[in-house]
Amino acid sequence: MTQKNVQYVCTGCKSNLVVDGKITMGVHNAMNGTRGILRASPIIGDYSISTSPTLKTKLGDRLNVLCPCCGLMLNSDDSHWGKILLRRAQKEYYVLFSTIIGENVTYKLGHKSQRPQVFGPDAEKVKKPNWSTMLVSS
Ligand SMILES: [Zn+2]
Repeated sequence: MTQKNVQYVCTGCKSNLVVDGKITMGVHNAMNGTRGILRASPIIGDYSISTSPTLKTKLGDRLNVLCPCCGLMLNSDDSHWGKILLRRAQKEYYVLFSTIIGENVTYKLGHKSQRPQVFGPDAEKVKKPNWSTMLVSS
């Protein structure tokens, strides 16, 4: 799948989150208070990430993710999921990714009529998000 014409943007200020080919977000470890920058692959299902050395994490820690432009917290209401907007071919989707370190699961949500698509090896183990508050409306 080509990544051309794919954009990931903040759900608030709509700033482009892709810097040098990586989705770039501020992060705050809710467990130990450390902060830093997280860079993730724009390819859904690729869970390679890099973080700045100031951020300390271990398996099972939960991260708060923040837009680097406007500072909006991108976690969903129950904090388990980070939520960003994917734009492709004039369509918009929400991409939900687990904010738990080591939990590799991502959902792609379109309009209410479409079934969410799930990605990642841990999808079966993790409680599904509450779709009703998250689907793209209209
Ligand atoms: Zn923003």
